[in-house]
Amino acid sequence: MSKSEQLFAEARQVIPGGVNSPVRAFRAVGGTPLFIERAEGAYLYDVDEKRYIDYVQSWGPMILGHAQPEVIDAVTEQVQSGLSFGAPTELETELAEELCRLWPNMDLVRFVSSGTEATMSAIRLARGYTGRDKIVKFEGCYHGHSDSLLVKAGSGALTMGVPSSPGVPAALADHTITLSYNDAEGVRRCFDEIGDQIACIIVEPVAGNMNCIPPVPGFLETLREVCDQHGALLILDEVMSGFRVSLTGAQGHYGIEADLTTLGKVIGGGMPVGAFGGKREIMEQIAPLGPIYQAGTLAGNPVASVAGLETLRQVQEPGLYDQLSARTERLVEGVLAAAKEAGIPLTANRAGSMFGFFFTEEPQVSNYQQVMACDTDRFNRFFHGMLEQGVYLAPASYEAGFMSAAHSEADIEETIEAAKKVFATLD
Ligand code: PMP
Repeated sequence: MSKSEQLFAEARQVIPGGVNSPVRAFRAVGGTPLFIERAEGAYLYDVDEKRYIDYVQSWGPMILGHAQPEVIDAVTEQVQSGLSFGAPTELETELAEELCRLWPNMDLVRFVSSGTEATMSAIRLARGYTGRDKIVKFEGCYHGHSDSLLVKAGSGALTMGVPSSPGVPAALADHTITLSYNDAEGVRRCFDEIGDQIACIIVEPVAGNMNCIPPVPGFLETLREVCDQHGALLILDEVMSGFRVSLTGAQGHYGIEADLTTLGKVIGGGMPVGAFGGKREIMEQIAPLGPIYQAGTLAGNPVASVAGLETLRQVQEPGLYDQLSARTERLVEGVLAAAKEAGIPLTANRAGSMFGFFFTEEPQVSNYQQVMACDTDRFNRFFHGMLEQGVYLAPASYEAGFMSAAHSEADIEETIEAAKKVFATLD
């Protein structure tokens, strides 16, 4: 029995399913999750002392790679001064200044401790600001596990087969309208019918929770247009795509104006941080300035703030995003070429340092139905083959992959070689 198997058995005695977030349990791909001992740069080391090239990167935050020395130094220094005060610090203002300076349409920003809180709070704000209850989301997009948003959601909710979770009151789910991602006409029809009841649209501007699905031209533009026409707010959920697709996320990359933006992952450099921010007149409705309540004991945590500040300092170094994009492209092209050589039908999507592979004959995958029609059995065998070769991919075919600045060209070539070997074993 491996040490991971042993620890997993122990964990299941005291933690539901042995994990604190469902996708970690390897339910989709089968087998035992790796228990991690430590991580450095592009690599994870499990408790059985095996090294893996990591393309999960803690599901996105570790854009500089794991245990990046300056980030670790900043955190180590900060912890000497105390872990949490529940009172304002200069650090959280500095992080907020950085976000407001960099991001278009962000006049004010409020920190929370997770992406779930960021989107949940942004939805409440949109409802309070507009005085409307209905919200629009898209099938296969995941915005965390709050009640209003756990309807036809992506990520673990897809893997576990619970697109709508028990425990979400039907009366609340009724207010959540789910439309098809990348279907601009469907959005127009919905707004023509009930546009005056809709508080907001929330969308992943690059979907990263049904594998990786970039927006088709015109889709995001249509969302902006119908929101303007009908007095609804547009919330761009950039928890994943923020500081990933570009320095200013998908909204900078595609030139789309958000009323509210949610962030997480990279802005905390691996510490628990989320944020929602946007236009001043909307954000001023949040307590204590306005009547819409939202709060957090650990929000703006000083240790998390320094990890975020140091991470954001480094991602602004010239050339970083070009390098990340080039490396991601090399990986995607190399794996696609290896699949072609082996006669395995494979398609890929990429947006900045996010990527996804699809086991399908379709030349392009741009919606939820196409994702669901992919060969998951083949993906699962690919996943385990890669794991055996020392490459750690997300343990489900519905998740995006991530490149970090620590992945070297040699790591990428090693990954492509591993894929060649694994493709040769797939029929
Ligand atoms: N929004 C998006 C786009 C996400 O990808 C995620 C998490 N993967 C969340 C919200 C929820 O974030 P958290 O898991 O930190 O609650």
